[in-house]
Amino acid sequence: MLNTAAQFVKTRIAPTPSGYLHLGNAFSFALTAALARKTGASILLRIDDLDQGRVSAEYVQDIFDTLNFLGIPWDEGPRDVSDYKQNWSQLHRMDLYQEALQQLADRRGVFACQCSRSQLQGFGTYPGNCRDRSLPLDTPDTAWRLYTDDRQISLRTLNDGVLTTRMPDAMTDFVVKKKDDHPAYQLASVIDDLHFGVDLIVRGEDLYASSVAQHYLADVLGEGAFKNKTFYHHPLLMADGERKLSKSAGSTSVKYLREQGKTAEDIYTTIGCMLHKGIGLKRFEDLLHLI
Ligand SMILES: [Zn+2]
Repeated sequence: MLNTAAQFVKTRIAPTPSGYLHLGNAFSFALTAALARKTGASILLRIDDLDQGRVSAEYVQDIFDTLNFLGIPWDEGPRDVSDYKQNWSQLHRMDLYQEALQQLADRRGVFACQCSRSQLQGFGTYPGNCRDRSLPLDTPDTAWRLYTDDRQISLRTLNDGVLTTRMPDAMTDFVVKKKDDHPAYQLASVIDDLHFGVDLIVRGEDLYASSVAQHYLADVLGEGAFKNKTFYHHPLLMADGERKLSKSAGSTSVKYLREQGKTAEDIYTTIGCMLHKGIGLKRFEDLLHLI
């Protein structure tokens, strides 16, 4: 059950501009806003745009259009596309990410990995090909992976207390710097949450493994403050009750529905019906109690 007295300073809405936002994103953001209101947290809008190859200006515009259309407020972060470009893009925080990567290198926490995508295909877990190769970290065209072990990780959650767990297999030796020299999502997300003082993180339950990985990373970086963050992993909105929504699915994009003449209220009604159908009455009621 939710600790109803819980109070937080700040939460965040963190879309990636790599497609039009869909009903699942809308649900996640609306839930974040509701939890912020309930717990006294302010809301940061953070646009995760490090994957520059997939970012496009129209998808950035869509983030603002969607939030405004759905009446989802935010207190901090870009007000529009030009403000985002000038002041808030993750590209402006590259020094912070590089500093963290340097710390990992200094602590011998990472190794260079040369594996190609095809070499890793079919493995659910990193097979450790480069773990003991001692490739110099400045080898061109290599990613950096974090050495991970099976240490215990504690995750503070909003509704299930403190969960004690270990690194999921899928995150073994996960990538912290990509071959293109850009910091990987996990690293940028940890550094941003620390930088902005976010203490409540609301995200889909498909990102549970990411939350564990991020705790692990913060542990290696010696960032004890990360342990005090509280997570809420919400159920996912499924198409037909079973398929995960994707950004390529045009008919569930908020933009498409808006252009079809749907109102914000129509969208919330649709989300409620999909949730009810997808997660069952019990979890649906739990969710309503939460907000
Ligand atoms: Zn490798």
